[in-house]
Amino acid sequence: MEYKLPELPYAENALEPVISAKTVSYHYGKHTKGYIDNMNRLIAGTEFSDMPVEGIITSSDGAIFNNASQAWNHMFYFEQFCKGGRGDICCNLKRGIEECFGSVIAFKDLFSQAGTAIFGSGWVWLAADKAGKLHIAKCGNADNPMINGMTPILAFDVWEHAYYLDYQNRRAEHLNALWEIVDWDVIEKRYVNALNK
Ligand code: MN
Repeated sequence: MEYKLPELPYAENALEPVISAKTVSYHYGKHTKGYIDNMNRLIAGTEFSDMPVEGIITSSDGAIFNNASQAWNHMFYFEQFCKGGRGDICCNLKRGIEECFGSVIAFKDLFSQAGTAIFGSGWVWLAADKAGKLHIAKCGNADNPMINGMTPILAFDVWEHAYYLDYQNRRAEHLNALWEIVDWDVIEKRYVNALNK
């Protein structure tokens, strides 16, 4: 099966000024496409060729894992944003966050701090365990909490390619700005799906 880069659900400049059109163009059009193309090339003719990407992530290693996981991580990342952001942390997610982190403000702080503290490239995740409890996970490189049996809910990319054109070395500033473009309807749906798993 050949995977294709899905069309972005918004214009390349829709996330400005938080993420510039130039960054979206490179990060989605070049980096994300590159991971998908590499994955297609690497899985052709192997046991992974007809698997859903999640299945490849949880059963492969090396270059196949790296490219499949990065392909999935980036599609998940770009899907969670929209122009100007949408809604706020509410409903089920608000209850879950308050239970696990005390308050929405405390959660956002902890999440941005965790992303800032990752040494080198990686991702900071909000993920639900099998009991529905929420965790902030710091992952290096392509890693994704689903390899530890958790369900990803929200992801911020801390690879330099995600912010260097717009923020240079100011990763913390970039992570704090991302809150302005999160589509909380998408995040709430992901959390409800995780609770109903
Ligand atoms: Mn990236």
